[in-house]
Amino acid sequence: MSEIAIEPLVVACTLLAGALAMALALAGSARRQPEPVRSAQMAWARGLAGLPLGWVLLETSAWLGVHALAIPAKMLFMAAFIEFLRAMHQLDDDPVGRRWFWIPVLAVGLLSVGFAAAHPSDPMRTGLLNLLCAAAALSTAQSALGHLRSGGSPQAAVLVAAFVAVALVLVGRATLLYLPADAPARLWAESPLAQSLLLGTCVLGPAVATLAFALMGADRLLDRLERIAGHDSLTGAASRHAFFEAANACLSRARQRGEPLSVVVVDLDHFKAVNDAFGHAGGDAALKRVASALGGVLRDQDLLGRLGGEEFAALLPGADASTARQIAERLRAAVAAAVLEIDGQRVPLRLSAGVACLGPGDRDLGGLLDRADRGLYEAKRAGRDQVVCTT
Ligand code: GH3
Ligand code: MG
Ligand code: MG
Repeated sequence: MSEIAIEPLVVACTLLAGALAMALALAGSARRQPEPVRSAQMAWARGLAGLPLGWVLLETSAWLGVHALAIPAKMLFMAAFIEFLRAMHQLDDDPVGRRWFWIPVLAVGLLSVGFAAAHPSDPMRTGLLNLLCAAAALSTAQSALGHLRSGGSPQAAVLVAAFVAVALVLVGRATLLYLPADAPARLWAESPLAQSLLLGTCVLGPAVATLAFALMGADRLLDRLERIAGHDSLTGAASRHAFFEAANACLSRARQRGEPLSVVVVDLDHFKAVNDAFGHAGGDAALKRVASALGGVLRDQDLLGRLGGEEFAALLPGADASTARQIAERLRAAVAAAVLEIDGQRVPLRLSAGVACLGPGDRDLGGLLDRADRGLYEAKRAGRDQVVCTT
């Protein structure tokens, strides 16, 4: 037990302390996160702690000369790499089943026990473990590459680079271990220095990628919040706030380019009667059905928003008065034809609509909506179930 022999153990313990601190911080913040970010962060934290813990066990086994200690160490390594992979899949809402965790971990355990039984005095070979860990690391990198390609999280590049580097080092060492026993490269690969370099890369790679992973989780949450804030949860149409924001931006563009733009305001006829006859849940089902009928008519460039209650608005970029009128008529006809039955009874769905087109005096959506509202009011007064255009 010379001092030199203890050194790798000291390094491993130091890295373990650092990794545990990061893992604890990640696990602590995970408690406040919604799913799937919470499970993803917990899995990543387990991976972060598992790798250096495995390394400490491995060094302890070499230091004490107790080869059996290497068995749980290897299982920990395998488990940690699977946890990183599971964390990435969790983030994508595509969880990896528990059995894909236990099968490789138990396989590594059984193979190690078999080897230890067959060669009780030899230190264990790690080539196969290295290859299995490299496969898991490459899968993790592939998952991160998906985030990079979708453009959602550029920081995923750090994760890809770290895990590809780890996989290359693992595959490199595994390859050297299968060279003839007296080859100098194999002798070097089996040296404590090569082992420390390998383990150091395996521990530091994911540790370096942890910030990128945490930021990817934050991106995921931001996407989710934007979706919640931007959409009406019942009908899926744009929320009032999001509709106004998008419509005003669109209106400025149309004014700059001198392009036409129209807006249709829609209000369901006698909707209170629907609620009275079919209950609030029936009214909700009717609102969903109406939104899907309206969405089915609108073009890709159009935007449907729920202004409130049973009132919707459609923004029609590029549509002049006659196109807007045609679209509004189609909206009316689609809702009148939409079939919704509750308890065997057909729910009557009708709407009135007002249409207004962008004029030279319109600086924002306000004036345009006021004119469309006037049209809507006239449509209601004239008997409902019709479209009125204003100029
Ligand atoms: P009109 O033809 O004049 O527009 O008559 P109306 O009955 O449609 O208009 P009114 O403003 O009297 O009633 C609108 C009803 O819409 C009242 C309200 O309870 C109902 N409502 C508003 N929001 C919701 C909702 O989210 N779900 C359900 N089920 N009902 C809603
Ligand atoms: Mg109404
Ligand atoms: Mg209304």
